[in-house]
Amino acid sequence: MQSNPSKPFTYESFPQSGLVAYFSMEIAIQPAMPTYSGGLGVLAGDTLRSAADLSVPLVAFSLVHRKGYFQQHLDGAGDQTEEVQPWNPADFCTEEPVRVTVAIEDRVVAVRAWRYDLQGRSGHILPIYLLDTDLDENSGWDRGLTDHLYGGDTNYRLQQEIVLGMGGVRMATALGLHVNVYHMNEGHAALLTLTLLESQLAGGPHSICTESDIAKVRSQCVFTTHTPVPAGHDRFSTEQVVRILGGERTARLERLRCFEGGLLNMTLLALRLSRYANGVAMQHGKVSREMFPEYAIDSITNGVHAATWMCEPVQQMLDAHLPAWRRDNLYLRNAIEIPEQEILQAHARAKETLLSEVASRTGLVMNPNVLTLGFARRAATYKRASLLLKDPERLLKIAEQAGGLQILYAGKAHPQDTPGKALIHQVIETAGKLSNEMLRIVYLENYAWDLGALLTAGVDVWVNTPRRPYEASGTSGMKAAMNGVPSLSILDGWWIEGCIEGFTGWAIEDGADDDAEALSLYSKLEKAVVPLYLESREHWARMMRTTLAFNGSYFNTNRMVKQYTRNAYYPVRLTQSAPVEEPAYVS
Ligand SMILES: *Cc1c(COP(=O)(O)O)cnc(C)c1O
Repeated sequence: MQSNPSKPFTYESFPQSGLVAYFSMEIAIQPAMPTYSGGLGVLAGDTLRSAADLSVPLVAFSLVHRKGYFQQHLDGAGDQTEEVQPWNPADFCTEEPVRVTVAIEDRVVAVRAWRYDLQGRSGHILPIYLLDTDLDENSGWDRGLTDHLYGGDTNYRLQQEIVLGMGGVRMATALGLHVNVYHMNEGHAALLTLTLLESQLAGGPHSICTESDIAKVRSQCVFTTHTPVPAGHDRFSTEQVVRILGGERTARLERLRCFEGGLLNMTLLALRLSRYANGVAMQHGKVSREMFPEYAIDSITNGVHAATWMCEPVQQMLDAHLPAWRRDNLYLRNAIEIPEQEILQAHARAKETLLSEVASRTGLVMNPNVLTLGFARRAATYKRASLLLKDPERLLKIAEQAGGLQILYAGKAHPQDTPGKALIHQVIETAGKLSNEMLRIVYLENYAWDLGALLTAGVDVWVNTPRRPYEASGTSGMKAAMNGVPSLSILDGWWIEGCIEGFTGWAIEDGADDDAEALSLYSKLEKAVVPLYLESREHWARMMRTTLAFNGSYFNTNRMVKQYTRNAYYPVRLTQSAPVEEPAYVS
């Protein structure tokens, strides 16, 4: 079927007036803009790309992060050093003329916004406003508040959160945007609720605040939590909150019961003042309800933006067979009809592109006919990058069984994460000792968008070994699935939903400790992965095809944004007055 380019397919326009304002501390807008650090930012960017494709009436707010996250350098010993990534917003964005102010400690801090116009595939423009305090009227310290993503200490962080949450709401108003849904992507933006409440009280004291004022704010807010363990939630000491936000706002937050054990908990604040909250995978919703039993926390499983993460050869193959995948990713289900040979050819091209990038970065020439595993993610210790290397003898045996094995690693450790840095060091040291002509292990520097796309498309198997239940969702395995690359992973986050054993990949079985899980990982490689790879390329291609058809058609932001629209932004109610339906449960 040929589509008619002069008459583009249009979606139903959403009948509700007003906008959704999406708030996120990081957004991966495009590879050349260092405004993100990892999964949360990539998810935010993919969400906006799909919202733009679907013409959802949405605008986004984040910080400009003038110095970026950081560029990673690894020396021969495996030690990480960091370099700032300065960039010029004027090269990509338009400066809005309006200014707003926020109160921080005893200062008035001016904020401006840079607008980036994100264009969807139908031409819809979705504006992203990057807030910036680098203005002459601010002090030197305040000018630096929007410089570093996740830099500095908790004082710096709380001040950034004031700029994002409180500054963002004021900016939306100053820009004349008619917002009726505020979406907090993680707790970093939770202070926006305070600004909404203050405008509801028209500047009056908290003593006049009634349940109906709070209900009014709640009716406008939705919240997505991304953190499955209490230690991961953003928290600030009472002393800090009093000093930075002031006594009156602190008292207000106390009355709203957002302090726990003497700490302001941003997740609690967001939950208290949202009419809808969700976790980012079925399991994560359940874990979140156990952490916050007073709240009905729904689940909307994450996705990735298909056209962003699918390599060119796979896109061309799909365009030839089912071009409708571009407007509606559900059609990817029909990839099940594509001949095996075409899948293999597309993957071979992706693998070639990846291996030539590895060669140009490291000088190491890898073999395109050898089974290649990928492991790339933030070097947080719970992700256990070294699990695969736990028993070197056994890994060498597997490499011999497979007729060779190549493993590509990448990932940054947060500058202050000493154990994470030690983990990178350990992987690189072990890789150096183990590598021989049968087994090649390489750790690639500076994991970011581009490298992530090459890796998830070009390796043969994507490996993920988080310690349960720390992986709220995980999205890199979804990028792999978009390219037909199966996963070999711990059953945590999205993989609980995505794993169909032997069809979309393999599960590493839960064990009592790291040793037990490493055993299961090796055993899956020996008994399932390597034999299938050796058996016949045609059988391997069928596995790739079911991966793409089953998981590509579901774990995408096209589906996810439709779920946010119908469940969170404009919930479908059974009757006008009925409450939102029960959260999605998982047994
Ligand atoms: C997709 C992506 C991530 C998130 O991957 P996880 O599987 O959630 O760890 C992190 N960093 C980059 C650069 C990515 O592209």
